[in-house]
Amino acid sequence: MHVTEISLTDWRNLVAVKLTLADAINVFVGLNAQGKTNLLEAINFASLGRGRASKDAEFVRWGQDVALLRIKFFRRNVAHELAIELSTTKRRRILFDANALRPRELIGKLNSVLFAPEDLFMFKGSPAARRKFLDAEISQASPVYFADLTRHNRLVDQRNSLLKKIRDGQARPAELDLWDEQLAVVAEKVIRKRFEAVDKLNFLANLMQRKISSHRENLSVVYEMHGLDSADNLADNFLAALRERRFVDIKRGSTSLGAHLDDLNFFVNGRELKLFGSQGQLRTVALALKLSELQFLKSETGEYPLLLLDDVMSELDRPRREMLIDFLRRERIQTLITATDRAYFPPQRFGKFFFVTAGTFVDDREVVP
Ligand code: ATP
Ligand code: MG
Repeated sequence: MHVTEISLTDWRNLVAVKLTLADAINVFVGLNAQGKTNLLEAINFASLGRGRASKDAEFVRWGQDVALLRIKFFRRNVAHELAIELSTTKRRRILFDANALRPRELIGKLNSVLFAPEDLFMFKGSPAARRKFLDAEISQASPVYFADLTRHNRLVDQRNSLLKKIRDGQARPAELDLWDEQLAVVAEKVIRKRFEAVDKLNFLANLMQRKISSHRENLSVVYEMHGLDSADNLADNFLAALRERRFVDIKRGSTSLGAHLDDLNFFVNGRELKLFGSQGQLRTVALALKLSELQFLKSETGEYPLLLLDDVMSELDRPRREMLIDFLRRERIQTLITATDRAYFPPQRFGKFFFVTAGTFVDDREVVP
């Protein structure tokens, strides 16, 4: 997968940007607050339909009504074009090769993996961030998974409203039967797929971790179910557990087991990362995970996604930086890297350089010396 051209209009501070990218490494250098992250965010938005903001209006340049995003790319050697229009007042509009898409049909069209400094918080923060990582990975490879997950989460919401109604005496507990059965069936699909993905991830991420740490560190990733001990006979056991917890759930007004509560845990050399990991280990694991996510997507879809590296060069020591760049070049992964300093990149070894100043991008080949 590679992107050839990106055009942005009023996307955050990017008023009118049109870039032709190299199918190799593209480096974006600029001072703080110039628009580097905004560019990567736009591309990742085209993959996942979400970015750093929760409302569409926040992506639109202040004082404007509409932001436009147009990306030309190749997927399995076929040219495609995505156009996304975000508005401060209206619903999103998405065109894929000039055909309208519903927002939930976007995922899986243009695959990308974003690695940003915030990813380091994933290990210590709430389980939601870890689920988001796993779900984004699987969803990009499998639209069916994304549809199941969406349905699962909707069922949980509906069940939760019913639980509250029962608690308030406005509905009867027996009304839960139908919801529980549906939830158990879809929860099994989601959880099974996550186990499968974590199995692959475990293998790939450990290889990466060993490589980055010069074979000193082994990484393992474990999927932890909340409220269930075994993944055998999942739908049946899930349903039994839901029934068993019915009155607890009514009391708390929410569903106390399911894929929406499960978590990932990480171990380096057998020790729990969130309790014992050093800052450098967190970084290495984050990098190993992102690189294994690239390989996971390649094995599922037949090609590498785009890699977006936001400000991570300054976080890595020199050997790790070099290992990373060598890996990207060898595997021919189209990559966009942002940095505040050009010093990390010896010019002769890279594809394209862009200088970013106040939302404008200049290709260094256009700069007159
Ligand atoms: P850093 O090196 O600090 O990470 P950056 O180049 O990645 O900087 P961005 O995160 O891309 O910076 O942000 C660039 C600017 O965009 C910021 O000054 C921010 O205030 C501005 N900005 C964010 N949202 C909007 C918006 N909706 N409209 C206009 N400007 C915005
Ligand atoms: Mg930034």
